[in-house]
Amino acid sequence: MSPTPPGRLTADEAIAEVAGWLDRARAVVVLTGAGISTDSGIPDFRGPQGVWTRNPKAERTSHIQHYVGEPEVRRMAWQQRLRHPGWTARPNAGHLALVALERRGTLHTLVTQNIDGLHQAAGHDPDRVVEVHGTMREVVCLDCDERAPMERALDRVRAGEDDPPCRSCGGILKSATVSFGQSLVPDDLRRAERAALACDLLLAVGSTLTVYPIADLPRLAKAAGARVVVVNGEPTAFDDEADAVLRGPIGDILPRLVDPAGAEAGSPPAGTEAAT
Ligand code: NAD
Ligand code: ZN
Repeated sequence: MSPTPPGRLTADEAIAEVAGWLDRARAVVVLTGAGISTDSGIPDFRGPQGVWTRNPKAERTSHIQHYVGEPEVRRMAWQQRLRHPGWTARPNAGHLALVALERRGTLHTLVTQNIDGLHQAAGHDPDRVVEVHGTMREVVCLDCDERAPMERALDRVRAGEDDPPCRSCGGILKSATVSFGQSLVPDDLRRAERAALACDLLLAVGSTLTVYPIADLPRLAKAAGARVVVVNGEPTAFDDEADAVLRGPIGDILPRLVDPAGAEAGSPPAGTEAAT
C-alpha cells in the first residue's frame, strides 16, 4: 500500500469519516446529477461516455431556442425520447442507499437534476424529492401549458406523427423538462435553496456542478454553516471548497456511507481517491 500524504486520508478512512458525519447529521440534503443513474443504463451528458461527449450535436435538442425554431431538432428529440433508456431502467445501489438514508429519518430533501424518476421508483417519499429540471414522464404544451402523460405522445410518434402538436391548441409539445434557456419552476428552486440553507450536511452526488442555478446549492449550504461532501468519479467545480471529496464509483461509495457495517464485508472500490 502506498503511504498516505500528510493531511490526506486513505479512501477507506475518508469514507469512514464521512459516514460518521452522516450518522451525526440532523438534516441532510442530497443533490444528485446524471452520474447516479449511469449504473442503471442511462448515460450522463458530460462524463467520459456522456451523450454530448460522444455526439456534440445531440446538445441542440436541449436548448429551447433550437427546439422551438427548428422542426428538425424536434423530430430528433422525439426519436431520442422513443429510444430513451429511462423507460426500462431500474434503480441501482446508489439510489437504494439514499432510500436507506431517508428511512433513518435524517434526509431533509433530495434535490435531483435528473428527469428519469428513478429516485421515486427506488421508494422515496415523493414529497421529499424536488425534480428541479422536471420529468421526462410528462409532456407540456409550450403555448397553452397543458400537461399530459409522455406515453400518449410517444404512441402518436409510433403511429407516424414525427412532431405531434398539442391536441388542445396545436402548439409545440415538449417533454416537461427544463431545457437550457428555460427558467426553473420558481417554487422548486425556492424549496431547493431553503433546504440547502436548513441542512447541516449537503451531499452532492454524480454532478459536475456546472449547471446553474442548482450548482450554487453547495455554496449556499456551506455559507450557512453546513458541511459539503462531493461524491463523483471525476473532479467537479466545487472540489476545492468541499469538506470532503470522495472520488470513485457512486454505486460503491453510497452504500458504504449509509451502511458502513454491511459494506465492511465487501471490498473497497478500486481506484477510489479521497481528500478531506
Ligand atoms: P453531468 O453529465 O454534467 O455529470 C455527471 C457526472 O457524473 C460526471 O462528472 C461523471 O464523470 C460522473 N459519473 C457518471 N457516472 C458515474 C458513476 N457511476 N460513478 C461516479 N461518477 C459518475 O451531469 P449533471 O451535472 O447532472 O448535468 C447534466 C444535466 O442533464 C442535468 O441537469 C440533468 O437534468 C440532465 N441529465 C439527466 C439524466 C437523467 O435523468 N438520468 C441523464 C443525463 C442528463
Ligand atoms: Zn396547447
